[in-house]
Amino acid sequence: MQYYSTRNRTTRVSLREAVLKGLAPDGGLYMPERFEQLPSGFLESARGMSFHEIALTMAGSLFGREPGDGVLRRIIVEAFDFKVPLVTLADGLHVLELFHGPTLAFKDFAARFMARLMAHFVVGESRELHILVATSGDTGSAVAHGFQGVPGIRVHILYPSGRVSAIQEAQLTTIGGNVSALEVAGTFDDCQRMVKEAFLDREIGSRLMLSSANSINIARLIPQSFYYVWAWSRLEDGGHPTVVSVPSGNFGNLTAGLIAKRMGLPVQCFIAAVNRNDAVPRYLRTGSYSPGPVIPTLSNAMDVSNPSNFDRILDLYGRDHLRLAGDLKGFSFSDDQTRAAMRRLHDRYGYVADPHGAVGYLGIESFVEGNGGSVDAVFLETAHPAKFPDTVEQATGISVPVPPQIEQALRREKRSARMKGTVDELKGYLLSCI
Ligand SMILES: *Cc1c(COP(=O)(O)O)cnc(C)c1O
Repeated sequence: MQYYSTRNRTTRVSLREAVLKGLAPDGGLYMPERFEQLPSGFLESARGMSFHEIALTMAGSLFGREPGDGVLRRIIVEAFDFKVPLVTLADGLHVLELFHGPTLAFKDFAARFMARLMAHFVVGESRELHILVATSGDTGSAVAHGFQGVPGIRVHILYPSGRVSAIQEAQLTTIGGNVSALEVAGTFDDCQRMVKEAFLDREIGSRLMLSSANSINIARLIPQSFYYVWAWSRLEDGGHPTVVSVPSGNFGNLTAGLIAKRMGLPVQCFIAAVNRNDAVPRYLRTGSYSPGPVIPTLSNAMDVSNPSNFDRILDLYGRDHLRLAGDLKGFSFSDDQTRAAMRRLHDRYGYVADPHGAVGYLGIESFVEGNGGSVDAVFLETAHPAKFPDTVEQATGISVPVPPQIEQALRREKRSARMKGTVDELKGYLLSCI
């Protein structure tokens, strides 16, 4: 399988190049050149398969010959070493819990898979691969944990000092080994600027093998398609159409769902559930795309005004607004609606959701209201409610116990290298790592 750039369909690169580069040189995003239909009989037999078996079949279809079955099986077994429960709340209402990985958010799926695939591609290189990431909190911790102990790779995470939560800082700074935390006296934008400048620096480029682990890497997208098939396979076949609601920010998660549908997964439609950052639902309604400024909300991992994966979605649908609007419905919700939904989920079903999952649930409610008829509805719960203790307590009165993963991180010793925020410091530091 080869990968093209959404900006130029005629350039083709190998999986290795797409994964190690991340972004195409023309600024486009990599996409697989074709989507194989799921093998015949696969969906019927999926009901009896394990998560790993389903993931292996999906990965085989999406990757083709490279990197091969044996490598994929090992990567999948190592990366997905946690449970992925589909919890039924009521007849026709289910929640897919994606937060049982080490950092308690769904980004673990993508980060753990990508880390191992990158490690496979650098085997035999004489130099180490250095991954440079700027983070405002959650992505950094998933990436840091994803690469922990992965041979041949060193990770450097830049985060803004005093501007991430205590839990996030503990998750970033207590890993050690091949993962270093760089604490920058500045903002997230300063961290991003330092990373960008480091990538443009000739001397760094010639002396270090450098890559990024940002959310547009195709290796982060593909593993997210696995759990849609998994969720479908765990539903009782009641003969109702399936709809899936995805709480969305950068729209990687939703793109992966649409890819699974393109490969033959019988989901009738997807729901893009967003907070007040509503460029995509507006596009679906009007056909015109006009992102506004970012609005801060309770579901802060989805505070994205101009989602980078939207271009992949348009590409997947040949930029045909009507066809896309047939498969994808979009709804936007306020913080008040989000808190009320957290309360309803708790009162009606005894379920404690985090604010992101609650937005996903609101998507189902709005869809059912507008469409009637019986459906089997699934919403994705993307973070553990314990990551948002104040919001959860305010909305539901419940205080969520701190999970052991977080408690352990909070107890370990913090290690970070402090930086003032210039690229020269970062350069000196990086060159000293050789
Ligand atoms: C990143 C994130 C999202 C948004 O996912 P996208 O793939 O960017 O749309 C939703 N919920 C949580 C908890 C996240 O961390």
